Amino acid sequence: PDPVVAVVGRPNVGKSTLVNRVIGRREAVVEDTPGVTRDRVSYKAEWSGKNFTLVDTGGWEHDAKGIHARVAEQAEVAVLNADAVLLVLDVTVGVTATDEAVVSMLRRIKKPIILVANKADSPQLQIEASNLWALGMGEPFPVSSLHGMGTGDALDALIKAL
Ligand code: GDP
Ligand code: MG
Repeated sequence: PDPVVAVVGRPNVGKSTLVNRVIGRREAVVEDTPGVTRDRVSYKAEWSGKNFTLVDTGGWEHDAKGIHARVAEQAEVAVLNADAVLLVLDVTVGVTATDEAVVSMLRRIKKPIILVANKADSPQLQIEASNLWALGMGEPFPVSSLHGMGTGDALDALIKAL
C-alpha cells in the first residue's frame, strides 16, 4: 500500500488549500471559518513518481471542547496511522499556543515531520518563515498554498522522508 501522509495543524492555517494544491484538484473543502474539515479525508497524491495517500484533517484546540475535541481525536488518529506528517503553520499569525500544543503532541509521536510555513505569499513573509526554526521541528519550508509557491521543495523533502 502507498505510504500515508497526515496533514495537521490548527484550524484555518490552510491545510485543505495545501491538499488541493498537491492533488491538483479542489476536492478538499476550504473555508474561512475555522474547523470546517471535521473528519479525516484521504486523497491519492503523487510527487516525482512517488505515490502516497494524503489525509486532510480538522485542526485541534489546546483546550479541546465540543467539535474541537472530535477534530482533535481525528487528527491524532490520523498522525498515529501515518508514515509522515505535514505540519502546517500560518506565517502571517506566527506560533500560537495551539500550534505549541500540536508540536508537543507530535514530539511524542516519533514520525518524520515536514514543517510547512504556509501563507508565505510575499518575499517578506518567506523571510518570516525562518523564525519557525525556533520550534525545533527542523527546516521550515515557506509555502503559499494559495498561489502555489514553495510546494515543490516541501514535497521533495516529504518524499525523501517516506
Ligand atoms: P484549514 O482549516 O487549515 O483546512 O484551512 P483552509 O485551507 O480551509 O484555509 C483557511 C483560509 O486560509 C482560507 O480563506 C484560505 O483561502 C486561506 N489560505 C490558505 N492558504 C493560504 C495561503 O497560502 N495564503 C493566503 N493568503 N491564504 C491562504
Ligand atoms: Mg480544512
